[in-house]
Amino acid sequence: DAEVVLVGRSNVGKSTLMREITGHSVSTGSKPGVTKKPNHFDWVSESFVVTDLPGFGFMSGVPEERREQIKTDVVRYVEANAEQILVGVLVVDGKSVVDIIDRHSGPDEIPHDVEMFHFLRELEIPTVVAVNKMDKVDDRDERLDALCDRLGLLPPWQQWQEVIAPISAKREQTEAFDEAVRHHLHEAKRDDLF
Ligand code: GDP
Repeated sequence: DAEVVLVGRSNVGKSTLMREITGHSVSTGSKPGVTKKPNHFDWVSESFVVTDLPGFGFMSGVPEERREQIKTDVVRYVEANAEQILVGVLVVDGKSVVDIIDRHSGPDEIPHDVEMFHFLRELEIPTVVAVNKMDKVDDRDERLDALCDRLGLLPPWQQWQEVIAPISAKREQTEAFDEAVRHHLHEAKRDDLF
């Protein structure tokens, strides 16, 4: 089955976005890091399966070892299914993502989000960065340009509308995301035809 996968740190709003695009209720689990297995859903508007992979990165109360295991599982899942994954969605928190990236950038440290972005692109999976919680962001253009810069995309962000999708899942404002994903799905279909 053709597939769209959602990856991202925990608490960025993956479940909220998932609920918004699928119309399904998604159990978020009371304990962080509990959702281990990929969840599959049918995306009603398109005949594709959407897979919500477990959140990675810091989660309070979840030991480092467990967190590393979750990330390894996500990476393995994506590698094993790369052929059928038509779009990889990296969900980030627009309010904090740049600060988190900068805090974790160093000579021998690559921030999770940057690593996942490059990982998806290396596997040649068309990638959309769903920049969520934009309702909390005042300096929208500056934030999005800074994010582009950190991901190695030359600003301004408006040049990357098929990649950078500012949204507010909670407020049901996901048009930029829908557009970007549709763009890649249609590209994939066209490649199939010709
Ligand atoms: P997940 O761990 O990535 O699945 O994140 P959740 O979907 O459980 O959301 C984490 C928190 O962020 C919850 O309190 C949500 O209500 C909140 N949230 C999700 N989307 C948005 C958004 O667009 N704006 C704001 N302000 N909060 C959001």
